[in-house]
Amino acid sequence: MFYLKLKSDSELVSIVCSGALVVVCEGCNELQSSGIDLISALDGARIFRASRADIEVIESFHVCSADNFKASQQGNESLFDSCGRILVLSCGVGVQQISSYFPKKDVYPLCDTFLLPGFQGATPSEFDCALCGDCHLNKTGAICPITSCAKSLINGGCGGEKDGKCEVDSEMECGWARINKRINIQSSIIESGKWKNTGRCRAIEI
Ligand code: SF4
Ligand code: SF4
Repeated sequence: MFYLKLKSDSELVSIVCSGALVVVCEGCNELQSSGIDLISALDGARIFRASRADIEVIESFHVCSADNFKASQQGNESLFDSCGRILVLSCGVGVQQISSYFPKKDVYPLCDTFLLPGFQGATPSEFDCALCGDCHLNKTGAICPITSCAKSLINGGCGGEKDGKCEVDSEMECGWARINKRINIQSSIIESGKWKNTGRCRAIEI
């Protein structure tokens, strides 16, 4: 299981802007923090209240399912076309999935995804989230650096990438090559200064 927690006001201030479209995932009802709880939290957030008049909010059930998302958003195409950026209230998988639907849009998470003990369930998605509790997708073009990089680096690539492939596994695309390509397409800028070396433990052979 996992738990979603709205990001702090200090993080939201760089994410929320007028002209944004908020997508709330109403899937995974077994979660302790549902989309409705998060909307209440978002309504209470100072940054969101200040921009609320210019922000549209729509809901979808299980945004991680492409077929489901497209079916549920019929009629909303113009909202996605015209919005300045897409802000997502869902787990990290849902944020990445929505980014893949709109490759030319800036897509940002509004919450962090935490691990809770218990059955995780099956995610019908090519994307993965390690439930790290400090979602970096707002700085990495909505590609998870924890799960897309063999070393789970969150402060940039290791320099070992060759022709877009990872030095650890030549069959695997380098996550940071993908991130850099994506943020060149988007207008996002990776902010430095708050980086750690890695987001989770890893094994090394000596
Ligand atoms: S950075 Fe990756 S692992 Fe961490 S919450 Fe976001 S999607 Fe999940
Ligand atoms: S080559 Fe890319 S994916 Fe592989 S460990 Fe280095 S930065 Fe991570």
